Amino acid sequence: MGKETGFLEYTRKNNRDVPVAERILNFEEFHTPLETEERRQQAARCMNCGVPFCQSAMNLSGMVTGCPLHNLIPEWNDEIYNGHDEHAFARLHKISNFPEFTGRVCPALCEKACMCGQDSDPVTVHDNELYLVERAFSDGYIKPEKPSIRSGKRVAVIGAGPSGLAAADDLNHRGHLVEVFEREDEIGGLLMYGIPNMKLDKKVIKRRRKLMEEEGVIFRTGVDVGRSDAEVKKLMDDFDALILCCGAKKPRPLAAAEPGKISGVYYAVDFLSKTTKALLKAKDRSAEALKKEGGYIDAADKNVVIVGGGDTGNDCIGTVIRMGAKSVTAIEMMPKPPMERTVANPWPEWPKVLKTDYGHEEAAFVYGEDPRVFERTVKSVVTDKKGKIRQVETVRVAFKDGKLTEVEGTEETIKCDLLLIAAGFIGCEDYTAEAFSVKRTDRGVVATGDGSYNIPGTKIFSAGDMHRGQSLVVWAIAEGKACARQVDEYLMGYTNM
Ligand SMILES: Cc1cc2nc3c(=O)[nH]c(=O)nc-3n(C[C@H](O)[C@H](O)[C@H](O)COP(=O)(O)OP(=O)(O)OC[C@H]3O[C@@H](n4cnc5c(N)ncnc54)[C@H](O)[C@@H]3O)c2cc1C
Ligand code: SF4
Repeated sequence: MGKETGFLEYTRKNNRDVPVAERILNFEEFHTPLETEERRQQAARCMNCGVPFCQSAMNLSGMVTGCPLHNLIPEWNDEIYNGHDEHAFARLHKISNFPEFTGRVCPALCEKACMCGQDSDPVTVHDNELYLVERAFSDGYIKPEKPSIRSGKRVAVIGAGPSGLAAADDLNHRGHLVEVFEREDEIGGLLMYGIPNMKLDKKVIKRRRKLMEEEGVIFRTGVDVGRSDAEVKKLMDDFDALILCCGAKKPRPLAAAEPGKISGVYYAVDFLSKTTKALLKAKDRSAEALKKEGGYIDAADKNVVIVGGGDTGNDCIGTVIRMGAKSVTAIEMMPKPPMERTVANPWPEWPKVLKTDYGHEEAAFVYGEDPRVFERTVKSVVTDKKGKIRQVETVRVAFKDGKLTEVEGTEETIKCDLLLIAAGFIGCEDYTAEAFSVKRTDRGVVATGDGSYNIPGTKIFSAGDMHRGQSLVVWAIAEGKACARQVDEYLMGYTNM
C-alpha cells in the first residue's frame, strides 16, 4: 500500500477540463493532466484493498461491476505513489493492451466498484491509467516488442475495432502471423469513426497502429471482406484461423422517420463518422477549419433533435454544439434515473444513476438547460414541400404490463431541421455473417457455444460487439483477449497465454 493515510489526507481530484466556453470552439481533447505530484497523491488514495472490487468484474444483480480486464489496479496505484512509473506501466500493460483508449473513453467500471466510493469519492483509476500510458509514450519506455520465434500459423482478423486489435496484438505477441482486414481507410473501428475527436484524438489510434506494425501485425485497410465468394474462399484457404470482429453496426430504426427517405434524418454513427473524416482532412481541429473543409452533415443554425440518450447521443450533442446548432433536444424513452444510488442499488453494484456527460454539460451552458427529455419518443415527423424535416411530434411513453406504451393526449411538437437517430444497435451487419455462413442469435449477433468464441465445427471465431452485442470498448478488448487464447489453443493444441 502506497500511503496508509492517503485516503484520509487527500481528496479526489480529476483531470482538469478546459472551460466549456473555450472547448466548444474546437474538436480537441479537453482534459488536461494533473501535475505529477498531484497524480502521486491521487494514487496514494488507493487503499490496496484485501478484496479489490475495482479489478473484480463481478456480476451483481445482472450487471458487471469492476474492471472486465481484471487490471492490476492496486499494484500500479502503489507504484505511481512511490514514483516507479515505468514499472507501474509494465504492470498495467501486462493486462491492458490499449490503456490510451480506455484511459480516455472507458466509463470506468473500476471506479464504480472502488471501496473509497462507498462513503467518499473513488480513486481516480481512469485518470491514473491515462497518466501512465501517456508517460510511457512521452518518456519512450513503450517500445515495439517483436516476437523472437514465429509459430508458422497465420491468423486473419476481420475488423480493426478494439476487439480485433486486442486479438491481433495478443496473437502476434504469441508468435502467430496476424493480418487484420479493415474496410475503412484507417484502423480503430468505432474508436476511429464513431467516438468524436474531442473524446479520443485520432492521433492516438495512429500512434498505436505504428507500434503494432513495428511489432509485425499487418494491416490491410480499405478491404471490405465478404463482398465476393472467391475472396472469402481465399481467406479460408490461406489462414489457419479467422476471427470475425466486425462490430454490431446495424442501427435500431425509428419507425417514424427513416434516413434516406426523409431529408435531414440520419443515423448518428453516419453523422459522427462523416464529421471525423472531414475533420481529419481539415487544416486543424477548430470548428472554423471544419466549416471550411465541408463534406459533412452540418448542424449550424439548425434545430437538432437526437433520439437516444446513451454515449452516442451525448457525442452527437457535443458535436452539433461545436458546429453551432441553434437548439438541441435529446429524447430518451426511459424514465429519468435518480441522482444518487437507491437502497435497491447499493455499492459496489453498477450505479443506475443519472449520468451527466460532457455534451449535456455543454448544452446546459450554451442553451441554458439540460437538453434531455425523458419518457418520450418521436411519434411522427412533419416535412416541408421539399420533403425536408421541419418538426417532430413527440409523445410520452410509460410502462404498462411490462411494455412501453404511448400515453394518449401527451403529444408535443418541437422544431427540427436535423434528426439524428442514436437509438442503439440491433446486431451485426448481414453480409459478413452470411459470407462466412455463421448463425446468429435472436439478438442478431454471432452464435457460438457457451463461454466459447468459436463457431462450432469451423476454424472461425468471433469477438467484440459482433459476438457480445453493442457494448463498451473495455468489453471489446476483454473479448478480443479471451478469443485470442481460444484461437491459440485451437492452433497449438494448448495455450500459455
Ligand atoms: C458514437 C459511439 C460512442 C461510443 N462511446 C463509447 C465510450 O465512450 N466508451 C466505451 O467504452 N464505448 C463506447 N462506445 C461503444 C464502443 O465503441 C464499442 O463497443 C466498441 O468499439 C466495439 O468494438 P468492436 O471491435 O467489437 O467493433 P467496432 O469498433 O464496431 O469495429 C468493427 C470494425 O470492423 C470493420 N468491419 C465491419 N465489417 C467489415 C468487413 N466486412 N470487412 C472489413 N472490415 C469490417 C468496421 O469498419 C469496424 O472498423 C461508443 C459507440 C458509439 C457508436
Ligand atoms: S477498490 Fe479502490 S481503494 Fe481498493 S484497491 Fe481498488 S482502487 Fe484501491
